[in-house]
Amino acid sequence: MTAEAVLSEIANQCASCELCDLHHSRKNALAGEGPSEADILIVGEAPGFHENEKGLPFVAASGKLLDELLQSIHINREDVYITNIVKCRPPSNRDPKPEELLACRLYLERQIEAINPKVIVTFGPNSTENFIPGAKVSQIHGKPIGLDNRVIVPMYHPSAALHQSSLKSVLEADFATLPGIITRANEILVNPPAEPVQKDYPHQLSLF
Ligand code: URA
Repeated sequence: MTAEAVLSEIANQCASCELCDLHHSRKNALAGEGPSEADILIVGEAPGFHENEKGLPFVAASGKLLDELLQSIHINREDVYITNIVKCRPPSNRDPKPEELLACRLYLERQIEAINPKVIVTFGPNSTENFIPGAKVSQIHGKPIGLDNRVIVPMYHPSAALHQSSLKSVLEADFATLPGIITRANEILVNPPAEPVQKDYPHQLSLF
């Protein structure tokens, strides 16, 4: 089966998925969007109001900021695969519950296997913890971490940067390091960077 066929099968399965209660309130499941051969996979948290309406990722204000961040490093959104840790909108944008994360986990794992990205960017605490349990975005954002032969780059969530202006410049600075991380992905996996000196940035107050 080609990667494209796997992604389209996952999208169909998500559209009729009833593995957790989120299916009761969803309008559209959002499996993901982007090319099956993307080098970069962005993993957000969950569809919000507008994403639930359209079935597409990052379509509202945080999507506009994401577009700007990608443009700032000369990467087109069309070249990146974008998905979330849960594929259906949690009511009122609450955090996904553990049982919802668990029910959706296999979809993300199969997407990662099919796309085989060099670099996975995680947005916000829930996405980051999905890959690195117990990690604090405030401590490890922008720091490339080797995991299962891929480089994970945790970042603050764009929605948080919209609500806490001090985080916007941090997110911009972290994006600025992405092209170098992509180029050096193999080297990073073999020789992980020494512990960087981290400035104590503010904690992300909330996701949305
Ligand atoms: N926030 C997310 O985490 N994902 C989306 O798709 C949109 C907003």
